[in-house]
Amino acid sequence: MIPATKNRRRLLAATLLALLCALAGCARAPHQPARPYSPLILISIDGYRADYITRGLSPNLATLASKGVRAEAMKPAFPTLTFPNHYTIVTGLYPDHHGIVNNRFTDPVTGANFVYKQQADISDPHWWGGEPLWVGVQRQGKRAATMFWPGSDVAIDGVRPQHWRQYDGNFTPTQRVEQVLQWLDLPNGQRPDFVTLYLEQVDHAGHEYGPDSPQVDAALREDDAALGRLVAGLKQRGIFPSTNIVVVSDHGMTATSPDRLIVLDKFIDMRNVTVITAGVLAGLVPKSGHEAGIDRALLAAHAHMRCWNKADIPARLHYGSNARIPPIVCVADDGWLIETQSYLDRPKHYISRGDHGYDNDDPNMRALFVAEGPAFRRGIVVPEFANVDVYPLLTRILGIKPAPNDGDIGPVAGMLAP
Ligand code: AMP
Ligand code: ZN
Ligand code: ZN
Repeated sequence: MIPATKNRRRLLAATLLALLCALAGCARAPHQPARPYSPLILISIDGYRADYITRGLSPNLATLASKGVRAEAMKPAFPTLTFPNHYTIVTGLYPDHHGIVNNRFTDPVTGANFVYKQQADISDPHWWGGEPLWVGVQRQGKRAATMFWPGSDVAIDGVRPQHWRQYDGNFTPTQRVEQVLQWLDLPNGQRPDFVTLYLEQVDHAGHEYGPDSPQVDAALREDDAALGRLVAGLKQRGIFPSTNIVVVSDHGMTATSPDRLIVLDKFIDMRNVTVITAGVLAGLVPKSGHEAGIDRALLAAHAHMRCWNKADIPARLHYGSNARIPPIVCVADDGWLIETQSYLDRPKHYISRGDHGYDNDDPNMRALFVAEGPAFRRGIVVPEFANVDVYPLLTRILGIKPAPNDGDIGPVAGMLAP
């Protein structure tokens, strides 16, 4: 009798275990292989103009493009600056809606400044609206790792990526790639589903030497070599076939010159205005009582500068409703810069040889989009689309619910594998 009771107990235990396993999914039928690790890596090469890829200096990028998807161009958001556009790409929101309306801006109520190179300014989460991808990923039970990206070292809405690094421009492209590979090497349960990688060498060289300089060509080679290391690292680990790689840029670059300066003082009395930003884009606040005069003086001031009252900015630019945008916005024509005499009088003033920030219809501002991996169709070129559409595309690949956004999956859905 005793052995029979033991058998019954064993049978009961086995049945219970089978039931638990069925509920928890711990038993896998032998014909069902484990799903491969399939991270999504979003790479930004800051200031990579859409046509740079035709220079023959980005062979690793060109290989990804030929095997996967390349867009003829990606249209950046206005203004075509680094912080607004990087944050648009990861939120699907126009700068008007996510609140990073420029690289530099002032809160009209508190007077607080956002200056993109001041860590103390940008690390205040209140500036950053919307829900960037890494926050959505973390909230929805997946893991994000950010090897730099504007906003990624800020605790937006109290959420940080599982793995992240404080921005430090001294980190070489190789060091950044090595860090990404180390994160991918983490054990299941710690390794990231979504990774960002940011490279600024091409943008730096573009500003300092101009888009057609040998220094830009060298930076293109350097960043492409980093991409090559990443791909080699993925192949070495056997995860290249299951990894989705998306390479973008935030904007293009155009040649600027000290011969193409628009000096604001020639048109307005500078005592009657506060200048929030100058350069490609000028943001001005007329002092009380001088609004009408400043308007009249600026609206047709220079053949290569367009100025608008904030309310009159063309709808196609999706720019003007945010309180952080100053009352008057002026934008220079391609290749021109707007400066003040007091800035030009400074002994150490700097006039760049290349710049961006211009109208987002300017062909020189066109950005890069290349994607490769199991989520994408192979060997196709797609027409230009807006960078707000990247967010719905990436949330679909990540399998997360998108936050409300300005993007549309329609123009980009055709690049996804059936
Ligand atoms: P821009 O001056 O508009 O060409 O922007 C590019 C510059 O932004 C880079 O060269 C960096 O100096 C800066 N930058 C990029 N990412 C970050 C970041 N996450 N935190 C602080 N500064 C950054
Ligand atoms: Zn940039
Ligand atoms: Zn730049």
